[in-house]
Amino acid sequence: MKSLLVNDITLRDGEQAPGVNFFPEEKLRIAEQLVRLGVPIIEAGFPIASEDDVKGVQLVAEEFGDETIICAMCRAHQKDIQVAAEALRGAAKGRIQVVMGTSDIHLKHKFGMSRSEALDLSTKMVAYAKTFMQDVEFAAEDSTRSDLNYLMDVCQACVRAGARTIELPDTVGYATPVDYFEMVSAVVNCLPPEILVSTHCHDDLGLAVANTLAGVQAGAGQVEVTVNGIGERVGNAATEEVIMALKTREDIYHCDLGSIRTPEIVRTSSLVEELSKMTIAHNKAVVGRNAFLHESGIHQDGMIKSPQTYQVMNPQDVGRQGYQFLMGKLSGKHALEQRLRTLHLCDSEDTIREFSRYFKDHAAKKKFITDDDIVGLFERFSTG
Ligand code: MN
Repeated sequence: MKSLLVNDITLRDGEQAPGVNFFPEEKLRIAEQLVRLGVPIIEAGFPIASEDDVKGVQLVAEEFGDETIICAMCRAHQKDIQVAAEALRGAAKGRIQVVMGTSDIHLKHKFGMSRSEALDLSTKMVAYAKTFMQDVEFAAEDSTRSDLNYLMDVCQACVRAGARTIELPDTVGYATPVDYFEMVSAVVNCLPPEILVSTHCHDDLGLAVANTLAGVQAGAGQVEVTVNGIGERVGNAATEEVIMALKTREDIYHCDLGSIRTPEIVRTSSLVEELSKMTIAHNKAVVGRNAFLHESGIHQDGMIKSPQTYQVMNPQDVGRQGYQFLMGKLSGKHALEQRLRTLHLCDSEDTIREFSRYFKDHAAKKKFITDDDIVGLFERFSTG
C-alpha cells in the first residue's frame, strides 16, 4: 500500500465554478466538514483575488491550520506570494502554491514569454515563496498541452528551487487517461523520489476522475479534487468519486487514504450542495439520490437476496442509511412484500398477491412512490 494525500480544493477551484461564491464564514463551515472527512490538505483560496479571499484563508488557517495543511494559490507574482503568506500566517502547516503556465499556448497568448523566460520566472517565484514558507507546491498550468521535455525541465528546476510538490494540471480537461498516465510517469521518473507529484484534472470531456486515477497508477502521491466535482467550467475530479473508486478498487490501486472517513461523504456533499447552490444530479455517482436506489423488480429481488448482486459499495460507507427501493410499475412482488411487512401493513400471502395487482395498476400513474404512498394505497385497497 502506498499512502495517498487528498488535497481538497473545493474552497479555491470549486469557488471558481460559474456562479459560486463562498463567504469567509461559509468557507469555515466547509473546512470544518472537510476536517471531519479527514482530508489532510485543504486549498482554501486565492488571496490576491479579493479581501474576502484573504479573510477566508485566514479564518481556515487559524481554525484548522495546526493539524491540516492549508494551502493558498498564487500566480508567479511577488505580490501574490506576499499576500498569500500573510493570509496563511495563522497556520502551523501552511503551503504556498505557485502557478505558472508551461504550454506554448499559454506562454504565447497569456504571458507573451519565451520558454526560457517562463522557466526562469517559475524558479525565481518558487525560491521567493520558500523565503516565507517551507512547504511550496509548483503547478505547471496546462501541463497536458505542454512539450514534455520542457515540462520536465521546468519541474526539475522548480524542485531545485525548493518545491516539494509538483502539480500537473489538466487545466482544460484535454487529456485522455493514457496521455495523463504517460505524462505523470515521465515527470515522476525525472524527479527525486521524495518529491510528490499531484494530479489536478478538469472534466471537460468527462474524464477528470478517470485521468486522476490514471495519475495515481502512474505514481502520483497527491490528488487535487473538489466536492461534487464543482470547479471552473464543468468542474474537477470529484472528491467523493475518487475516494470511493480508490477504496472500492483497492485491489488495483493499493492506496492507503490515511485519515479519510468515508461515512462523512454524504454530509460533505450536502453541505457543499447547499452553500454552492449547485444542485447535484439524481444520477451523480456516489452521492446522487439514485446511487443506492433500486426500482426494477429484477434488481429489487436480487438486492433482497443479496446486496452484492447489484451494488459495489455499502451505503453506510458513504454515510447513507441503507439501500432504498423505489416502488413503481417496474417493481417486483418481493420488494413490495418487504415494504408491506416492514410497514406492518399485512403479512398474508393472499392479500399481498391481490394488493400487488392493485398496486401495479395505481403505481403506474406515479413515478416516485414513497412509503406514505404505499400506506395510502393499501388503505384504499383495504376499504375497497
Ligand atoms: Mn483548476
